Amino acid sequence: MTDLTAARETLQRVFGHSDFRGLQSDVITEVLEGRDVMAVLPTGGGKSFCYQIPAILRPGVGLVVSPLIALMQDQVAALRSAGVAAARLDSTIQSDARREWLSAARDGQLDLLYVSPEGLFAQGFLDFLEQCPIALIAIDEAHCVSQWGHDFRPDYRALGQLADRFPSVPRMAVTATADLKTQADIRTQLRLENARAFIDSFDRPNLVLAAERRPPKVQDRIYDIVSARRGKSGIIYAATRDNVEKTAANLQALKIPALAYHAGLDANLRADRQHKFQEEDDVVMVATIAFGMGVDKPNVRYVVHADSPKSIEAYWQEVGRGGRDGDTAEGFCIYSASDLRRAIMFANQGNATEQVKAVQIKKARQLFAYLDGLTCRRAGVRRYFGEENAEPCGVCDICTDPPTSIDATEFAAKAISAVMRMDQRVGRGRVVNHLLGRTGDGLDEQYASRTTFGIGADQGEPMWRNVIEHLLFEGVLSEGDDQRPTLSIGDDDAVRAIFRKERSVRIREAAKPTRRSKEERRGAKGAAKAGFDGADAKLFDALKTWRRETAQANAVPPYVIFHDATLAEMVRAKPNTLPALGRISGIGEAKLKKYGTEVLAVLIAGI
Ligand code: ADP
Ligand code: ZN
Repeated sequence: MTDLTAARETLQRVFGHSDFRGLQSDVITEVLEGRDVMAVLPTGGGKSFCYQIPAILRPGVGLVVSPLIALMQDQVAALRSAGVAAARLDSTIQSDARREWLSAARDGQLDLLYVSPEGLFAQGFLDFLEQCPIALIAIDEAHCVSQWGHDFRPDYRALGQLADRFPSVPRMAVTATADLKTQADIRTQLRLENARAFIDSFDRPNLVLAAERRPPKVQDRIYDIVSARRGKSGIIYAATRDNVEKTAANLQALKIPALAYHAGLDANLRADRQHKFQEEDDVVMVATIAFGMGVDKPNVRYVVHADSPKSIEAYWQEVGRGGRDGDTAEGFCIYSASDLRRAIMFANQGNATEQVKAVQIKKARQLFAYLDGLTCRRAGVRRYFGEENAEPCGVCDICTDPPTSIDATEFAAKAISAVMRMDQRVGRGRVVNHLLGRTGDGLDEQYASRTTFGIGADQGEPMWRNVIEHLLFEGVLSEGDDQRPTLSIGDDDAVRAIFRKERSVRIREAAKPTRRSKEERRGAKGAAKAGFDGADAKLFDALKTWRRETAQANAVPPYVIFHDATLAEMVRAKPNTLPALGRISGIGEAKLKKYGTEVLAVLIAGI
């Protein structure tokens, strides 16, 4: 049997899937041949099988280094329910359980062992590992090793020493998010110079994306988005605890089952809410980014950014929590120049090195230029990650309703001149008034004699606000981070180029919000059709009820038992024998044995 045939057989027998996806088979073949690998696969691309299957097939234990406890818990629960000998060592594990797993690892009885970087470098652990048969070492979230990445973790740097400690063990770096610089850093830092790289497209074809500048009544807007998607599972990200609480309270008052989640809440309450979100299908989680790392709920149908994310990487990771099951999921990103200001302020306040700060600020600017830009959402992200020839997606807000853009180079030059003539000492409102030539009522009389006073009177206030905001997003202007931020020049070269007309500035015409809500209604109807009607809907519900009860009895999230997609396939195929049930995707040997008879009973009662 070739390596790949064995791998495919394991995929089918253990996990119940008939074939590999994308680059999985290439990555797995490479590791099964004992070679190092760097794999960059998009979220939902099935990174876990890339190391789980070789770990099962190769003698010894597969060591998985991951920084995310929640993710380890989920994966270990899912592996065990598929009958794989898996364990994790983290701070929550008791010492006798720990001893038990360690001796299993030493005796070659364990297929997978998950450990955090701190756990790995704890006193004596590496020495212990040297006495164990090791199948492979997988470093998950490998982008954390790079200061070019968006989630730099200094303790990841030490993982490079595994190369010397375990020279004959194949090592794998896996991540969903790494631009070209980060990829290069992963190689050098993790000592994977000779590893073959498998870089999949960053595209997530099932994501339907949109972004909009923050409207004046942002809570109403969020409610509109959520209420058009009642009954579906969604995540709303907000930047601060206050905003999380406010948004959740507002939705609750409007009878939406919303829960708040942030690091300021008691740990039990957080665990409880996360559990509810995972168990129930219609819960909306309003959260800071403290929520989501490692939350693997497959059927999240939409992600809203009520405040903008930190970088394109962060955006892609967060919005990527939607639609892991491959069905359509929507992303809405609300952004504003004050979000950009906050991002820059946070970067400056952190205790990172100047170089890391500069990277963070640059990444924030790239994000806003992208959000406020005119290119297809998915193609924009793919190009950012270094993909060439990314085609427009055809379904995002830009593709379906292309914003009309206008050449605003001349307006930009006027606005920049005004900022300079006002000595870079005043904020947006005052610059706009100055451009419009407004006087009186304590307005800036002292600047009224400057040549720029009133040079923008032929345009309205919204135009000037739009131009200035866009220049902020592009980093041409910048805004201070005090209470009443002043405008200043952000990029001298860009300013010179704009004055010389060597650089053009294109801005969008103001959005037309009414059209969007119509589209949303259409979207909501479309989604309802994708579900089941009549008897099938009843059967699907009955299967979900069985799953919920079984999950509760086993103290695991429902999707650890079966994914929605697996239940849906049961409804469509209506198998009425155990072998027929076993052919459904997502049902491996262990699950068929454990749940087959019960599921069949539910199916037969409902058919
Ligand atoms: P990620 O790359 O985001 O870590 P996962 O490894 O969690 O992705 O996989 C995402 C989902 O896709 C999981 O539910 C997994 O069971 C499913 N999956 C992965 N590979 C396959 C496959 N070859 N066939 C069917 N389902 C798969
Ligand atoms: Zn598009």
